[in-house]
Amino acid sequence: MTSNKSIGCNVTECRHHAKTESYCSLNHIDVVKHANAAKTVECTDCGSFELENR
Ligand code: SF4
Repeated sequence: MTSNKSIGCNVTECRHHAKTESYCSLNHIDVVKHANAAKTVECTDCGSFELENR
């Protein structure tokens, strides 16, 4: 799996994680907010997350 050095990520539970390195393997991700107006870092998330098949 190729790591995208422009997208650092430590969510190893995601199927798109590069695993051997702390990067995402996707060419791009969608960052989403789950509040009407984002005011803290907790209001934002990776919208491209998919749970690893285990
Ligand atoms: S899709 Fe999002 S959560 Fe999954 S590895 Fe990439 S940046 Fe991390």
